[in-house]
Amino acid sequence: MPAYEQERLFFVRSTGLLDTKASEAFDRITRLAASLLQVPMAAISIVDESRQWFKSRVGIDDAETARSDSFCTHTIEASNVLVVEDARLDPRFTNNRMVTGAPGIRFYAGVPLQLPTGHTLGSLCVIDTQPRKFNAQEEQLLRDLGALTMAQIDLHQMAGRVNEVTRLPNRAQLADDLTGACSATPGMAATLVLLEVMSNTQLQSAVRAVGIPPLEAALRTIATNIMKSLPDGVDLYHVGETRFAAIYTADAGQPDDIATALLARMSEPFVTQGGITVQLEAHAGLVRFHCVETETADVLRMATTALYQAEAEQRPWSGYSPEFDMPHRRAFALLRAIPVSLAQGEFRLVYQPKLDLHTARISGVEALARWRHPKFGDVSPAEFIELMERTTLIHEFTEWVLHKALEQQSIWRAQGMDLTIAINVSARNLEHPHFLQMLRNACALHRVQPKTLRLECTENAVMTGTLTAATLEAVRAMDIAISLDDFGVGYSNLSCLHSMPVEILKLDQSLIKPIATDERAFTLIQSLIRMGHALGYRMLAEGVETAEVLDLLKHHGCDAAQGYYISRPLEAQALPEFMQAPRGPHFHGAP
Ligand code: C2E
Ligand code: MG
Ligand code: MG
Repeated sequence: MPAYEQERLFFVRSTGLLDTKASEAFDRITRLAASLLQVPMAAISIVDESRQWFKSRVGIDDAETARSDSFCTHTIEASNVLVVEDARLDPRFTNNRMVTGAPGIRFYAGVPLQLPTGHTLGSLCVIDTQPRKFNAQEEQLLRDLGALTMAQIDLHQMAGRVNEVTRLPNRAQLADDLTGACSATPGMAATLVLLEVMSNTQLQSAVRAVGIPPLEAALRTIATNIMKSLPDGVDLYHVGETRFAAIYTADAGQPDDIATALLARMSEPFVTQGGITVQLEAHAGLVRFHCVETETADVLRMATTALYQAEAEQRPWSGYSPEFDMPHRRAFALLRAIPVSLAQGEFRLVYQPKLDLHTARISGVEALARWRHPKFGDVSPAEFIELMERTTLIHEFTEWVLHKALEQQSIWRAQGMDLTIAINVSARNLEHPHFLQMLRNACALHRVQPKTLRLECTENAVMTGTLTAATLEAVRAMDIAISLDDFGVGYSNLSCLHSMPVEILKLDQSLIKPIATDERAFTLIQSLIRMGHALGYRMLAEGVETAEVLDLLKHHGCDAAQGYYISRPLEAQALPEFMQAPRGPHFHGAP
């Protein structure tokens, strides 16, 4: 069988149209075709290996006919509208059984139903028992109805539900099917298999060697091979670039047998269309589970963990083991809890005062996020921020922080306290297309002057790319100051840094803490302050825990300080009292 036909048949099957129930959406199109083109018969024909099967038919009795007798097989070969004005006069059809016998076809026009990949599933055709002409306008009408049929095929079974390369059901469909199966048969025992057919390096080098289209064709061949080794009734899903999945019911076998059989199949070298022999490096992750409807998302995650474990331990496959999974489990549970907690007000901000060392006054605060979860207790920002940064949640979260902080700032202003407020932003925030608009909206809503707002970004956030540089320039143009957080611990490229619109360097606490006891640490800070000033930055020290450290910083020209010695981060309502409390002698400005 030619490669094209093999692939075409693959699509005919993966679209899952064959032998499905009649559907009004398709019947509407055939009725419309018959009535607009004034013919007694119309059909949506899917051309299978040796038959044509009608997804919809008007005026035709049989649900399928032999492919050899079908007109449609000619249409799909022509890949173009096929018009037969009088079949009795066309040598291709004079002896056709459907022309010589019932239903006595004389006229036929069909338009191929073509996928974006160029593969043809079948045709939309109109048939008459009288010979007739077909003009350009009618041909166009048929084409339009054909396009409508394809759109319906897409809509009906695929929109967001199939992988674009193989047209196999995708991850979303797998999740739905899992949930569906579990609500139909609660307690059902089954095994979910995830199969990664190429390692990441293999994928990369394949893309470089042959490019995308041959790789996609290879993926279809691989999918066909996997399908051949699946037991009857087990469907294949295409859930990631090179990742497939299948659900085996308990009677389909033990995980070891399933994995061994699948991987044995995968390890057989195969030849791609371009004639290249490929030996796959496949891995599998398996999880045996009992259906509980609410936990189907967990099952997928467990299988993913098992797959990672197989890869990490360089074994062909692995089952699910909770020990390997502990950190992932917590991460997963926390991530799922975040949106709920945001909605239920379980996050709050605390504010750490900053001391201006020239005036000895508290000039502003840094807003720091806190999360107390009913089950997990206090979760540190280091942990939850890192998790959010892996997802788009970080955008929603920063927006929440911004609004909360500015709202608090305007409350304090109404109480007679003018404080700058700093919020921490992540690299991903700066890449968000609406980041600037979000800043503008928040300032306008809370009637806050942008110059009283500061953004603290870490070095890698500032240095990531041109996109970020443009955003930071725009932030600066809005009169919002940017602080470089954790300065001195990364690998600052100073010449690069100097081209960025940063105004404040925030010396990291690990550099500040030892300066009272360690001569070299002190020398380092001294020179960093001098250098920073020479380049026009304001210098802020964080992690000031003792009077000695504060004194040293003050005497060597540091501009501002923040740390437990001045104040721990405070709840919002504790700030007014803190502001009014008398300050000890160390808090007074340099002489
Ligand atoms: P950061 O921005 O460098 O914040 C300073 C951290 O040092 C805070 O920890 C603060 O409580 C702590 N700290 C302040 N003074 C002292 C001191 O004198 N001694 C010691 N040992 N620690 C001190 P926290 O609140 O746990 O925050 C950790 C990090 O989490 C922050 O580092 C920041 O990068 C991130 N973070 C916190 N809140 C947010 C937020 O709202 N958004 C984003 N994107 N990140 C946040
Ligand atoms: Mg910070
Ligand atoms: Mg810091």
